[in-house]
Amino acid sequence: MDLQQIRKDFPILNQQVNGKPLVYLDNAATTQKPLAVIQRISDYYLKENSNVHRGVHHLSQVATEAYENARGYIAKYIHAEESNEIIFTRGTTESINLLANVLSPWIQAGDEIIISGMEHHSNLVPWQQLCERNKARLKVLPVDLDGTLDLNFLEKMLTPQVKLLAIAHISNVLGTVNPVKEIVRIAHNKGVPVLLDGAQGIAHAKVDVQDLGVDFYAFSGHKIYAPMGIGVLYGRFTWLRRLPPYQFGGEMIDQVSFEKTTFNELPYKYEAGTPNVAGALGLEAALHYVQKTGVDDIFNHEDKLLKYATEKLENIDGMRIIGHAKEKAAVLSFLVNGLHPFDLGTLLDQMGIAVRTGHHCAQPLMDFYGIPGTVRASFAMYNTLEEVDIFVDAVKKAVGMLQ
Ligand code: PMP
Repeated sequence: MDLQQIRKDFPILNQQVNGKPLVYLDNAATTQKPLAVIQRISDYYLKENSNVHRGVHHLSQVATEAYENARGYIAKYIHAEESNEIIFTRGTTESINLLANVLSPWIQAGDEIIISGMEHHSNLVPWQQLCERNKARLKVLPVDLDGTLDLNFLEKMLTPQVKLLAIAHISNVLGTVNPVKEIVRIAHNKGVPVLLDGAQGIAHAKVDVQDLGVDFYAFSGHKIYAPMGIGVLYGRFTWLRRLPPYQFGGEMIDQVSFEKTTFNELPYKYEAGTPNVAGALGLEAALHYVQKTGVDDIFNHEDKLLKYATEKLENIDGMRIIGHAKEKAAVLSFLVNGLHPFDLGTLLDQMGIAVRTGHHCAQPLMDFYGIPGTVRASFAMYNTLEEVDIFVDAVKKAVGMLQ
């Protein structure tokens, strides 16, 4: 992997913040975008912009073809069986809300939905609200102190009432890479379908939906170098075909009269209104960039950064790292003594370092650890070992100033 070239591909990284070179370690919140992605979006608006589908004119056909090619590319990237299984959404949050909405008629009073104790609010609140509305029960698979899930316990929780298991592929707080293939197998043995929240998974793990056997997989483009406002809900054809539409309006219909409407086929049934075409093309360009760079090389590099940073941070007095799973992706949460994460984060910002502080949209997980939040450094392909050095020195300095 040519790190120098990669950094050149992300021009935003080359800037000063508070008089210091920017060290961007907030990648779990959003990643920066390479020129290839920026250029693709710009090209679309410079040369191809038109509304998609049904247009007879040249530009509409160009835009439609580009949009549908993007869908096909994304389907191949996650190894979906067909491109009809790729529904474009605004991102993970919308993908999960879409699913919670269309599964609603299927969830009856007394039914159960299982999530885990490490879920992002996006994979918690939609299920909680659905359960509340339908008088169903939300059950939570506990996390242990290391940040892993107990699969034996999961087996016991999978009673006949359970209608869905919704779980993170990779935790955005702990970095835990959950054994999702095994989880899917256990759930399927009991006839329970599985949704994986792949907001972090898409960026830090190989995603092969057929190999995982998963029923639904949700992710956001912006976590994997693509623009904001585009994401995907993957759903197995046999599921999506059976489920009702989500939003109603243009694009998603077949025939409309004042008396009755019939709906379009997949995937359009789930894409009401004008879609984010530029976003879809940007996502295709981002995945292409990742593939061209080399998925294995990227993951190895991130793993090196994670291990190096963990080792160096552990040498700081009073350091408490949250999340010690054996399988861990490039997300590093920590606290130092009684220092408030916000104070640490503010001082790091003054030294040009971007980290995230707070509850990371996982308040129940913070309650479990009895902490107000953490400081979180998260790595991407463009981060360097030198940046880790700068970051760790800055943490030491900040701790010295605050104590
Ligand atoms: N789930 C996880 C694990 C996440 O990390 C995030 C983003 N922080 C989300 C869901 C929500 O993603 P988005 O805001 O892009 O919809």
